[in-house]
Amino acid sequence: MEACRRTGRSKSEIKEEMKETKTELLERVKQIIRGLKKQHPEAKCALNHANPLQLLIATILSAQCTDERVNIVTSTLFRKYRRCEDYLGVPQTELEKDINSVTFFRNKAKAIQGACQILVERHGGQVPQTLDDLIELPGVGRKTANVVMGTAFGIPTGIVVDTHVIRLSQRLGLTRNKLPEKIEPDLIKIIPKKEWIDFSHRLILHGRRVCKARRPACEICVLEKFCPSSTLIECSQDLPVQ
Ligand code: SF4
Repeated sequence: MEACRRTGRSKSEIKEEMKETKTELLERVKQIIRGLKKQHPEAKCALNHANPLQLLIATILSAQCTDERVNIVTSTLFRKYRRCEDYLGVPQTELEKDINSVTFFRNKAKAIQGACQILVERHGGQVPQTLDDLIELPGVGRKTANVVMGTAFGIPTGIVVDTHVIRLSQRLGLTRNKLPEKIEPDLIKIIPKKEWIDFSHRLILHGRRVCKARRPACEICVLEKFCPSSTLIECSQDLPVQ
């Protein structure tokens, strides 16, 4: 039977060891949260913004686009457009031109103007502070709404699941699911509500700096002891995701 070269344990023995009870999982989650706080105490939203409207616009622009690119675009965009009425006061083609270096800029320009129209008509030009109202805006899904609620208003309505959170949740054995809408409920069950906002910021930062998609730097990772996917465990490829 094939065995781990480092420990001498068989794969079935390792799999058996990795099965954990709910209590053990919650204890491991505590250690993961502690490790993330230690390694990324400063974690915050990477999209530059000064108010809820700017964060909303930046988050709409960030769909399938890098935060760096969005920050470049918004550094000039936010000087020209300060209120919802400013976005509505230009033809869509002008707004498209102002954001044309982000992906899907035509759709995003349309969504921004559609969202601003609703904000003016129903919310006095302000960004509403409920998830349900936010989700009704064009270009705003659950992820964007959670970003705005958590980062702009400090209200934890869910856990932001982006590409980094998907990858790390799987590697850390916190979910077996692949889709964000299924991963978020898995995380909500095991992460204390008071941690939801920062947990997601820190996991995203950890994904960018340490647990990168192609080559996770397990040798410097503070979560290594609590991670079933660590590349320092030689048989890790075949370990089960919890
Ligand atoms: S130990 Fe490796 S795979 Fe696990 S979270 Fe850290 S970097 Fe990622």
